[in-house]
Parts: sequence; C-alpha cells; structure tokens
Amino acid sequence: VAQNPGEPEFHQAVKEVLDSLKVVIDKNEEEYRSMSLLERLVEPERIISFRVPWVDDKGVVQVNKGYRVQFNSAIGPYKGGLRFHPSVNQGILKFLGFEQTFKNSLTGLPIGGGKGGSNFDPKGKSDREVMAFCQSFMTELSKYIGADTDVPAGDIGVGGREIGYLFGQYKRIRGLYEGVLTGKGLTYGGSLIRTQATGYGVVYMLDEIMKAHNDSIDGKTFIVTGSGNVAIYAVEKAQQLGGKVVAMCDSNGYIYDPEGIKLDIVKDIKEVKRGRIKEYADRVEGASYTEGTGIWNIKCDVYLPCATQNELALDGAKTLVANGCKYVVEGANMPTTLDATTYLQENGVLFMPGKAANAGGVATSALEMSQNSMRLSWTAEEVDAKLHGIMVDIFHKADDAAKRYGMKDNYVAGANIAGFEKVVDAMKAQGIC
Ligand code: NDP
Repeated sequence: VAQNPGEPEFHQAVKEVLDSLKVVIDKNEEEYRSMSLLERLVEPERIISFRVPWVDDKGVVQVNKGYRVQFNSAIGPYKGGLRFHPSVNQGILKFLGFEQTFKNSLTGLPIGGGKGGSNFDPKGKSDREVMAFCQSFMTELSKYIGADTDVPAGDIGVGGREIGYLFGQYKRIRGLYEGVLTGKGLTYGGSLIRTQATGYGVVYMLDEIMKAHNDSIDGKTFIVTGSGNVAIYAVEKAQQLGGKVVAMCDSNGYIYDPEGIKLDIVKDIKEVKRGRIKEYADRVEGASYTEGTGIWNIKCDVYLPCATQNELALDGAKTLVANGCKYVVEGANMPTTLDATTYLQENGVLFMPGKAANAGGVATSALEMSQNSMRLSWTAEEVDAKLHGIMVDIFHKADDAAKRYGMKDNYVAGANIAGFEKVVDAMKAQGIC
C-alpha cells in the first residue's frame, strides 16, 4: 500500500487474489520467496503515461491523460482493453491489468496481461471530436504496441467506432496492416461473434455452473446490470436459453419490465441512437424507470453485474440473498466489493468472479488475432463453438482447482489458483526478468 498510494481498486484486487492464494503460497513459500515471485507478479512490467491534446468542435484545445499498463508478458504479448471514462486513473488501470493477467491465463491462449485508456469521456461528443481524440491518443500509443508486442481492445467507452478510428491512425503512422487491435469491424479484420463474446461467455459460464448443480437457465428470472456491450449480449444469450430478464440499468437509473426486457428496443436505444436506458420506459407499456441505484431490490434467481467495478456492495448482496437469488456471475470486472462477495459465498450463492466469467471477450479477441495472423476468417458458428468450449474449459479449471484445495464451489479461489499456476510456472521458467 505504501508503495502504491492512492490506488484503492488496485489494493482491493491484489488483496482478493493473494488472500485466496494463501493455500498455494503457504505450500511453496520458500521457492516463491527466493525468486520474489509475488513481488514481481504485483508490479507491472511497464506503465506508459502520456498527454493527449485534441481540438473540440468549438476550436478549443482539450488535454486528457492517456495510459497503457503493460502488466505481465510471461505467457504472451500484452492483451487487454482500452477504457475511455472520466474515472480512469493509473490505479484503476493497474487493477484491471492485474486481473487481466489471470483472466488471460485462464483462457488457455497465449496472451499476457495489459490495460489502458484515458479520462476522456466520449459521452455527448460528436463523431469528429471522438475521431480527433482517438487519432491523438494513437499517435502516442502507436510507439509502444504491435501485433506481437501489445494488442489493445475495447472496454467501457471504447466500442466499434473508437476501435476504427484508432486502427486507422495506427496504420497511417506505422504503415502496417496488422492485427494490432481487436474488436475491429468485420470489413477490416474483425472476428464474427467478438461483439457478442463477453456477454455470451458470461451466460455459457452460468450454464456450466448450473449444470454442475443439476439446475438450468430455462424459466429463471434475471437481473442484468448495465446496458452496454456486455449487458446487451448477456441478455440476448440468457433469453435464447429460456431465461427471463426483467431489469437493466445505466449509471443514472434502472428499468423494470415484468413481462421481460424487449432487447430489440434496448439495442435501438443504446446501439443505434446512443440514448439513455430510461427511454425504454417511455416506449414500452408496463415498464417502469427508477432514478438512482437499487436495481438489486427486484426479486431474481440470477444476478449478472455487467456495468462497472464495485457496483454491488454489501447492502445489495444482503437484499439479493434475502430475495432468494442463487447465482451471481460477474460480467464486469470486479463489480462486487470484497465484503459483498464474502457475504454471497457464505450465504449459499454460487458466485463466479469476472476474471473467469467475462474471459470470453478476450478469448475471442485472441481468436481474432489468430485469424489475422492466418489471414483467414472463421464462420460465426466456428467462433461461437470455440468460445463455448473455452468457457466450459475455464469453468472446469476453476472448479478443479477449488476441489484440489478442498474448497468445492469456491470459484473465486479456484479461478485465482488456476490462473496463477500457469503464469507463475512461465515466470519461473523464464528466470529473473
Ligand atoms: P460499455 O461502456 O459498453 O457499457 C457500460 C455500461 O455500464 C453502460 O450502460 C453504463 O452506463 C453502465 N455503468 C457504468 N457505470 C455504472 C454505474 N456506476 N452504475 C450503473 N451502471 C453503470 O462497457 P462494456 O459493456 O464493454 O463493459 C462493462 C464491464 O465489463 C466493464 O467492467 C468492463 O471492464 C467489463 N468487460 C468488458 C469486456 C468487453 O468485451 N466489452 C470484456 C471483459 C470485461 P452509462 O452509459 O450511464 O455510463
């Protein structure tokens, strides 16, 4: 904490991982200590931070902060999203890069951990302003990334539009047409199913957890928080498998539709018109909108937090348990606070952490990298089948690791142990570096 002041999210992520690795660390203490493995694991290999000047529509020069945290390259090139949101700072990107290292390890694919972004807020900006910002951001970032070095993707505030502008600028500066970013459009190297991958993967994970407990999605009531990329496609897959999603939200408030959310209307509001979720209640009879937080007060069997970090705290967790919720599967990164996670686990809720449950996005990004390298495109069915297989595999890795250490159904410990084992093995093999 003293060496990383003012980074509470990073401390939280490291504490969660190291606490749950205690059983493994105790067993190998001598070896880890002699190689300072844990000290190296929590220190990013490199952090790049830079100025991003751009001109707004009024002709005024704006300046934002840009970052790339290259956290760990033991098992492959750095890989992880870019986040554009006013809350972005170095500590948040370090927490995300740290988590990403374990997540990427769990996918079984050769990708290291990284994360980046800016405190730029794309909300309310014109397309021209977003392009000006992205071009300035990439002018600097292009010096540090490449298809075999570091391959960023989207995250909060960075979707298809932003990736397009970033890719165009990289190509222009470096003169290289290569798979340097993932989440690209289908006309210039993107992969089918990448848009859907994180949300679909969350529900594939839930399906596996349920199967292991003789249960199924069919007929269950869901709450899915957020209304962005992850949330929309989690809702889509949950509905395809017979689930009924009754509530979604954005950072202003939440909608409740007892008849089940009509996803085509949500997509029109969010993906086409870039509007606010409250417009849903104006368009759908019987639906309501509530300003502020509290979506967890609605009764559900399954809660999928797909918005942002620390959105679900202890009071929300208590309400979920009291209302009979049985499954919490994280679509967002660290959306549940530490005490809320512990409360859910101690009260019989099957809880899967984001680093396992939302790994379908980065896994499909790695499949996009493979297709780019081969100069081939797989069909949607092929990519979806691979994604499904990867999520099933991640479930078993987390489940097996938890059982190996006598912690059946503790998927937080299982996911951390399984992700950690591979990274640490690769770090040991590569010596002190
Ligand atoms: P988007 O920007 O597409 O959507 C984020 C959604 O969350 C928006 O609806 C946003 O509302 C809402 N939100 C943000 N803050 C809050 C808050 N405090 N309370 C309630 N709602 C809020 O991002 P993504 O869907 O891509 O990402 C969501 C999460 O999933 C993030 O944690 C991200 O790191 C993680 N993730 C994303 C992956 C991907 O492939 N996209 C892969 C793996 C993880 P508003 O419009 O009001 O801001």
